[in-house]
Amino acid sequence: MSPFDALRWVNSYARLPESFHQRVAPTPLPDPYLVAWNPDVGDLLGLPAGAGTDPGLVAAINGTALPAGAEPLAAIYAGHQFGTWVPQLGDGRAILLGEVETPSHVRWEVQLKGAGPTRFSRMSDGRAVLRSTIREYLASEAMHGLGIPSTRALAIIGSDAPVQRERTESAAVLVRVAPTHVRFGTFELFASRGLAAEVRILADYVIEHDYPHLLPLPEGERHAAWYAEVVARTARLMAQWTAVGFAHGVMNTDNFSITGHTIDYGPYGWLDRYDPAHICNHSDHAGRYAFRQQPAVGLWNCNRLGEALHGVVDEAAALDALRGYRGIFEATMTELLRAKLGLSTADPSDAELATDWLGLLHDSGADYTRSFRALSRYDAALPTSSDALRAEINDGQALDAWRARYDTRLDSEPQSTAERTRQMLATNPKFVLRNWVAQDAIVNAEARNFDRIREVWSVLRKPFDEHPGFEHLAESPPAWATGLEVSCSS
Ligand code: AMP
Ligand code: MG
Repeated sequence: MSPFDALRWVNSYARLPESFHQRVAPTPLPDPYLVAWNPDVGDLLGLPAGAGTDPGLVAAINGTALPAGAEPLAAIYAGHQFGTWVPQLGDGRAILLGEVETPSHVRWEVQLKGAGPTRFSRMSDGRAVLRSTIREYLASEAMHGLGIPSTRALAIIGSDAPVQRERTESAAVLVRVAPTHVRFGTFELFASRGLAAEVRILADYVIEHDYPHLLPLPEGERHAAWYAEVVARTARLMAQWTAVGFAHGVMNTDNFSITGHTIDYGPYGWLDRYDPAHICNHSDHAGRYAFRQQPAVGLWNCNRLGEALHGVVDEAAALDALRGYRGIFEATMTELLRAKLGLSTADPSDAELATDWLGLLHDSGADYTRSFRALSRYDAALPTSSDALRAEINDGQALDAWRARYDTRLDSEPQSTAERTRQMLATNPKFVLRNWVAQDAIVNAEARNFDRIREVWSVLRKPFDEHPGFEHLAESPPAWATGLEVSCSS
């Protein structure tokens, strides 16, 4: 028995035609142990409070005791990887345990990432390493804490079973939770094979499952409205990533969620110093997925999805949706930057003020997250309040010049300084998951100390709080981490 047995498994994806998936059970790891448990996501699924210490938990995640009612499967998909069409991918190391419906009728897919080979594993081992599962666990919860749509992480189990990457590492399984794991690439697979009926079945499935508010629309309008919403959600997600300084690293169409959630955390990174040209993925030699490319790549991916939906969404409507992408991205970006600068009203000079602030951060090599946080406490009437800003931005003259313009702009604001500070502190996080922080948790976990994972998680789930005693997690990379590189290896 495990806590998963009490859940109501509905498994709607398993009801789709056989061509959508392979039924496959997880391949258990030897001598598994619990590495991390996230009670927030436990609550989301409706698991009992003691689920994290239930003796049956690890076996259930390891696949030796499948929950009653689960129908495990691996989904097929395809995708454009670094711009190149790959005709078939699929869950090569993830197994969808099933889908649960909570008492309040919310449905969540529960997926085991690293659960062993499937028909889609190609030449790989079907495994995930402890390092990459910790990176995904912490990043997805950090993203959620920042208020940005993301897959969630329930738990990690580990095993001493060796897994060969650049070095020998140990195996782990991440329990990932999302409304759906359908990707842009799932549509591309069926479309590329000329399977128009399957494309429509999948579109109808996603609309019914994840966009039920569109169901009342007449057939002819529904699919176009749905595609427009996917495009809009993607544009907003790109703006949200940009605003928090997040670079995904592998924005292939198979890593783009049909619900606009951040999915598949690999060689991602949150910016330390502000550099729009930053490439977080060491394997991305051409910089296709550099930080500043993300909005354009999001649109490129929406184009590929639009092509795959050719028989389902009217072409003129699809082109309209795509034409709307840029406006949605820019409007969201303007709104987010205004909030980050503490401006509650709109002024035509705001765009330039924001651009010049970012230029200041770039030119002085300032830390992106800490600079906005320092600005949140800035008060023209309190000379000491600019000390924190000076500590981040080393060009005092340029800072003073910008500050004078900011002061003038703030004078026209109806908000009091106290109100502005409160709003900015709730908008500009103190903490993001810095690579060195993740790495430190990984190094500890590889030595069987999992406390650091819990500590980092407990801070990042509430990144706008002060968390006294954890200030070090907001620091720039220490000397040992300055050469840290992350790649596609996971
Ligand atoms: P990713 O770059 O992690 O999004 O993975 C791209 C594709 O490769 C997906 O279809 C994965 O399922 C598959 N894949 C990645 N790593 C492995 C692995 N170790 N074993 C089997 N398939 C894998
Ligand atoms: Mg992927």
